Amino acid sequence: MKFLISFLALALSFSILNAQQKEVIITTEKLSDNTYVLFGRGGNIGIQTGEDGVFMIDDQFANITPKILEAIRKLSDKPIRFLQNTHHHGDHTGGNENIAKQGAVIVAHENVRKRMANNTKNRDGSPREVIKSALPVITFKEDVTFHFNDEDIIVFHVHNAHTDGDAIVYLTGSNVLHMGDTHFNGRYPYIDLNAGGSIEGYISANKKALIIINEDTKIIPGHGPIASKTSLEAYIKMLEEITANAKAKIARGLSKEDFIKDTSITKTYDDQGYGSGFINSERMRATLYTSLTKK
Ligand SMILES: [Zn+2]
Repeated sequence: MKFLISFLALALSFSILNAQQKEVIITTEKLSDNTYVLFGRGGNIGIQTGEDGVFMIDDQFANITPKILEAIRKLSDKPIRFLQNTHHHGDHTGGNENIAKQGAVIVAHENVRKRMANNTKNRDGSPREVIKSALPVITFKEDVTFHFNDEDIIVFHVHNAHTDGDAIVYLTGSNVLHMGDTHFNGRYPYIDLNAGGSIEGYISANKKALIIINEDTKIIPGHGPIASKTSLEAYIKMLEEITANAKAKIARGLSKEDFIKDTSITKTYDDQGYGSGFINSERMRATLYTSLTKK
């Protein structure tokens, strides 16, 4: 009986998963006269349109490219000229090959290309084919500026934040900032420590973003709804407080095991729902400990 129940539960969760995959709905939110965010499955997509064509930031997953293109076609009939990747993760670059086929030039930080080109194994260890046309064609070390659709689009690298290849994109005329996964609105961040991310780099990336924006800026986070200067300030406060708490505990010589169990480190923000997303409070504490004790 027990087996049957767990089998049924498993079957049910699979069918829910299947339904979710089939029914990805792309929703579009207008941010300025010619910039938009597309929400779907995976990292939020930024779109800028105009006479010169379409500028695209990130592309979610390959299997939903047709739906994403359909949503873009409702905004512009011009070709997609550039695709900027905010970092290498598959939920932001999965559609690269398809978008390149549309004629777009892919641009990213040099570590994005390196990580994608060296990604030759699947999680189970089986060989994985690297698709050359999915790789960024133009790479940069620190920053690059696009002069496109009558505005300057400033793309700058932030060091060791979510990964070691993060780029933040500022559309200066539209006053729209795409932060990729250096910002998770209202949720604890996922910091990829194995790909060069760190809590301290993550905080300084958010502080850098704060310097260049104003009260009217619309912030596209990697995941979650549109953020603002006010919410970004609150987010930095959260990151700094839990990091200070974590440092104090580490200084007292708490073991990793006890550290992860110590809910007082994150309690204030657990209570505000920050741990209700992909990264729960326990995982956040594990990240804090590993990042802050790394040599
Ligand atoms: Zn990511």
